[in-house]
Amino acid sequence: MVDPKIMCRNHLLGEHSEIHMFACTIEAGRSIKGYIEKGLLEIHNLYNRHEALAHELRSRGYQHNSKLAEKWKMAKVAGVIDREKSLRDLIERCPGCRARYQKLARAKV
Ligand SMILES: [Zn+2]
Ligand SMILES: [Zn+2]
Repeated sequence: MVDPKIMCRNHLLGEHSEIHMFACTIEAGRSIKGYIEKGLLEIHNLYNRHEALAHELRSRGYQHNSKLAEKWKMAKVAGVIDREKSLRDLIERCPGCRARYQKLARAKV
């Protein structure tokens, strides 16, 4: 749930494939309760988040051929992600994301 522009290549590709993985898991009828309880997933935003990541992937010149089914637009509301905490964690842990974040912050001034 961090602005995709901030994310380094690894994190961008990683979160994108996680979205597809979650969609498969839910479709297979397996429980994702743990992820929701830990605040790692917002089912109702899966579709929009996938679109945002796919857009960023394309704008960086990566191929993207994995569409997410339209039905995910209608997913019921479940899960809350703390966006500020996600951003703090990411830029604290990942030098690549931190560098992009600082560059974007400077560009905004
Ligand atoms: Zn995709
Ligand atoms: Zn990163």
